[in-house]
Amino acid sequence: MSFNIAIDGPAGAGKSTIARAAAQELGFLYVDTGAMYRAIGLGLLRKGTDLASDGALEAALADIEVGLGYEDGAQQVYLNGENVSSLIRTEQVGNMASSAAARPQVRAKLTELQRGIARRENVLMDGRDIGTVILPEAQLKIYLTASVETRAMRRYQELTAKGETYSLEQIAEDIRDRDYRDMHREVAPLCQAEDAVLVDSSDMTIREVTDRIICLAKERMEG
Ligand code: C5P
Repeated sequence: MSFNIAIDGPAGAGKSTIARAAAQELGFLYVDTGAMYRAIGLGLLRKGTDLASDGALEAALADIEVGLGYEDGAQQVYLNGENVSSLIRTEQVGNMASSAAARPQVRAKLTELQRGIARRENVLMDGRDIGTVILPEAQLKIYLTASVETRAMRRYQELTAKGETYSLEQIAEDIRDRDYRDMHREVAPLCQAEDAVLVDSSDMTIREVTDRIICLAKERMEG
């Protein structure tokens, strides 16, 4: 049986950086489910889909195929066969992904893909509903969070390093909006699973959080 680790938490808590590093050190496959929602978000933006219309959304989704692959150990996400990994990291795509992720049709499209990978492999999967909905039987669940201020500052530094200009206030506002949408949607809202370990990374370094997760995983694997 495969060993599954679920990491959930709000945008900007450092999930992907930490999950990638921990997965590599544990020899697990890292699955970034946010990238899948982003690929759908990009597909919907390209089509100019009106999310308010069920019919338009369903027609657009029938035309959108999301795939995952790995190159030199790094996850690649494909939209209808096109590698879109470098196109999905914008605020615009993130916001569309978050709006689309509130729609049950969008979530249903990704659920089986995610569960199938976890059945076949030892995975460390990160997202919003992994411990609560996708992998309720995961052997280790982590809920990774940090204050809005810390997350906004991290995102600001990331975007500035890429040469993109956004104000810190605008980013904090986007994070608050996205948290609200993710936590209050009807389907699979972001929340801590009852049996998840809470880790607040506000005052921890990436190394400290990664070590904590590796340590918890080793305890569970041996136990
Ligand atoms: O994690 P990331 O910011 O890349 O995710 C983009 C959006 O996809 C999130 O704001 C969230 O709304 C959605 N998402 C989700 N469930 C997941 C992963 C991401 O709803 N498992």
